[in-house]
Amino acid sequence: MVEEFDLLIKNARLRYKPIEKTFFIGINEGKISSVTEERIGRGIIEVDAEGNLVSEPFTNPHIHMCKVYTFLMLGGGAVRQYQSEGMGGAMAAIEIASKIKEKYNESWIYENAKKAALSALKYGSIYLRAFVDTDTKAKLEGVKALLKVKNELKHVMNIQVVAFPQDGIVRDEGAEEYVWKAMELGADVVGGIPWIELTEEDEQKHIRTAFKIAKEFNKDIAMLTDDAGDPQLKTTLYLAKATIKEGWENKVTACHARALSTYPKPTLLKVIELSKNAGMSYVMDPHTGPLYLPFKEMIRAGVNVALGQDDIADAYYPYGRNNMLEVAFLASHITWSMTLRDMDTFMDMITWRGMKAMGLDFCGIRPGCPADLIVLNGKSVYEAIWRHGLPHYVISKGKIVVKSNIEGKFYI
Ligand SMILES: [Zn+2]
Repeated sequence: MVEEFDLLIKNARLRYKPIEKTFFIGINEGKISSVTEERIGRGIIEVDAEGNLVSEPFTNPHIHMCKVYTFLMLGGGAVRQYQSEGMGGAMAAIEIASKIKEKYNESWIYENAKKAALSALKYGSIYLRAFVDTDTKAKLEGVKALLKVKNELKHVMNIQVVAFPQDGIVRDEGAEEYVWKAMELGADVVGGIPWIELTEEDEQKHIRTAFKIAKEFNKDIAMLTDDAGDPQLKTTLYLAKATIKEGWENKVTACHARALSTYPKPTLLKVIELSKNAGMSYVMDPHTGPLYLPFKEMIRAGVNVALGQDDIADAYYPYGRNNMLEVAFLASHITWSMTLRDMDTFMDMITWRGMKAMGLDFCGIRPGCPADLIVLNGKSVYEAIWRHGLPHYVISKGKIVVKSNIEGKFYI
């Protein structure tokens, strides 16, 4: 019997399959119903992948969505500080960047965030974890804007909103109340930035407060830890310890954590071991600062590490398009990781490892899995990262949501 599919992708190359083979992917009611070498049916709509790699969509588990496209509103002062002297000016940069919050307003944040979300979708990311400043300056302007974007795009994208007290919880007295309110409004994740507090005691208090809120709402935690070149910073370690103590294993993610690159080996090994026990994920973004996590060592030890865009044209980083292949391409250069195996690792870091960092289940490309797929511009992971261009098609919940021009096709 010939089957009929809502959508049939033909000539698809798949990861982990021999490069000379192509496949048919049949989709019905938003799910993958078959993956076969031979055609077993026809599609109401058929997409020719033309031998390109078909992959799971990309993930972006760390992006400051309330600040996107604000670079020109601020000038370059914060970028200079953030990247200077082994990140010694990171805290000063955060202070300069916080000036923008005097102008925070739901309406322009909404416009900018929606533009950035659609850019992500166009480049094949359908899972985003959006960090939104939630404090006494930003109040709930960003949270409201992002909840609106999340809601408007929920039929095609999965956006998680993180209530993020960017200027601290102890230092910025009153920020805690805004985080509680953001969670009541519907934010998905409790954010934090303990390393910005002035004493170790305050750092610990910051972490304790986040767990209190997260447990009340039964939500995950995502924090920016130790984001400066200072081996004395230890909030990543405290976070891992607290995760185990609170029984919040596999629900906590640390972003940046660049200080780990400055730790003596024995200290680093302890942090790795604790992170593993806590099931804590990490997100790194080597393009937005001069230091980066020892990710290969961490992955080898069994710790989940993903890549994030972090910023798009804001006080900390002037570029970015929510193009995760571009992020992988940059990471490959910055970390001098250019073997085929390295590329595979980066591909993992922008697909299933990102989902894991967002607390989502990964299914893959097999019958029964959600039909969230992208037809890439390239026959292999290598070609896709090399070109880091638009995917030819983005498919979400079994429907084509973006079609892009096919590079290299001339009509002359
Ligand atoms: Zn960040």
